[in-house]
Amino acid sequence: MTMNNHGRPTSPDHVPSDRNLDTVSGSRGLLQAEGLIFEVGTPDTTGVDLPKPKNRTGRLGGVARKKGTGLPGLSEPQAVRHYMRLSQKNYAIDLGLFPLGSCTMKHNPRLNEKLARLPGFADIHPLQPQATVQGALELIDELAAWLKTLTGMPAVAMSPKAGAHGEFCGMMAIRQALIARGEGETRKRVLVPASAHGTNPATAVQCGFVVDEIKANEIGRVNMEQLREKLQTSDDIAGIMLTNPNTCGLFESDIREIADLIHEAGGYFYCDGANFNAIVGRVRPGDLGVDAMHINLHKTFSTPHGGGGPGSGPTVLSEALAPYAPVPFVVKDEDGVFRLVEDMEGDASESFGRMVAFHGQMGMFVRALTYILSHGADGLKQASEDAVLNANYIQSRLKSVMTPAFDGYCMHEALFSDAFTAEGIETIDIAKSLIDEGYHPMTMYFPLVVHGAMLIEPTESESKAELDRFCDSLESIARRAAQGDETLKGAPYLAPMRRLDETKAARKPVLKWVEPNADSVAAE
Ligand SMILES: *Cc1c(COP(=O)(O)O)cnc(C)c1O
Repeated sequence: MTMNNHGRPTSPDHVPSDRNLDTVSGSRGLLQAEGLIFEVGTPDTTGVDLPKPKNRTGRLGGVARKKGTGLPGLSEPQAVRHYMRLSQKNYAIDLGLFPLGSCTMKHNPRLNEKLARLPGFADIHPLQPQATVQGALELIDELAAWLKTLTGMPAVAMSPKAGAHGEFCGMMAIRQALIARGEGETRKRVLVPASAHGTNPATAVQCGFVVDEIKANEIGRVNMEQLREKLQTSDDIAGIMLTNPNTCGLFESDIREIADLIHEAGGYFYCDGANFNAIVGRVRPGDLGVDAMHINLHKTFSTPHGGGGPGSGPTVLSEALAPYAPVPFVVKDEDGVFRLVEDMEGDASESFGRMVAFHGQMGMFVRALTYILSHGADGLKQASEDAVLNANYIQSRLKSVMTPAFDGYCMHEALFSDAFTAEGIETIDIAKSLIDEGYHPMTMYFPLVVHGAMLIEPTESESKAELDRFCDSLESIARRAAQGDETLKGAPYLAPMRRLDETKAARKPVLKWVEPNADSVAAE
């Protein structure tokens, strides 16, 4: 048996069979088996034991419920255990390294949470008179100033509520600018590199544009010849949507030229800024010729995400697009009073409109500004540098056993292809085997331009010891994959659920619990 430098085995001698993992209770170790809440409780029981109110007549008239709700009754300990058991089946950034490339799963500092819970931020209401929420408006304004400074851009729309929503904001601003130029109907083509995040082409189409794909070249960047050719032969270019650093984890080396070419062709440059964590404090997108870029506060600026939590996607805009920014936005009047511009008049007369009911994700603004202020300009720069260093550490530790997709250093994420695997072993087998090792899988099969892609983003918040522990696990799995170890195909062996039909779960989700038919069960 080989041992790693922590004295733990690097490859199991023995892969457990299903049989010896079966227990009578269904629980494994101290991880409890848990059914659906409907299977735990029944509608016939109740968790509370209160006497019926005396001498009360119903006041609901004819609308009182005639039958029970069918909701199961649970006692308090049953309810607490149910959710506790479910929570222990979750993987979380607070539990371990979360290598999901493109998602920037970094630590969420507790200080952010503390400040977001201050009553002056947490207990205010968006419909309060603005005179009573001056501090909150000032916070939005201060965060906006930081985002403009860090990106080198003159304007920012704070209201978009996620990355994809920010893309929508930027592309709507581009659409509105084209309409103002009288070219809304003639410029419809948006160039999108093949490696783009799926949200980019989806956003372009949603805003009424036609997507035209540009291929990647052999070093994972935009194919400049194809770009030039497309720009020369089409007079309907609205713009380009480009991610930088791109989804291969690489800096687009020709980005200045791309910006110039797009501008010469009369189009705008949308930059997907989801990977901003790699360059904060080192590169300002405004200096690269960007016209619009969303920032994922929930990636770069450490606000929590995953599991459907709230995102926030402020979108910075160039001089050319700033007039078309959505309402509302915060302005500071000469007397020092902060005000939300809500209507499309005055400064906002050219706005493309409103994207959200109020002003955006206030709780995320508080968290992001806390993160920014607690790091300072030098700390933010160091965080980016450490994120890039950590990804390169992983790439360099694993490059002798796995196949890096491209030569040279990477930015904040390391990308491997499946070229090193023996016939029959696929990326999914490696990803599922990581679960048995206690890790959430890396991003797999994305970007599409790399065969069997495995995209690993450790972020800056992992220590070298934790990176080594992860690399030891992945290295051992990769060696088994290279040797064609068929047992990988059965992984995960140790998770509560084995391999699921994820396509079916996505396409035909079962969202409603139906009581099993007692008769048919009996007949089977
Ligand atoms: C995460 C991500 C997005 C979308 O952001 P959401 O907040 O999930 O909508 C867009 N592009 C890239 C490259 C991303 O990584």
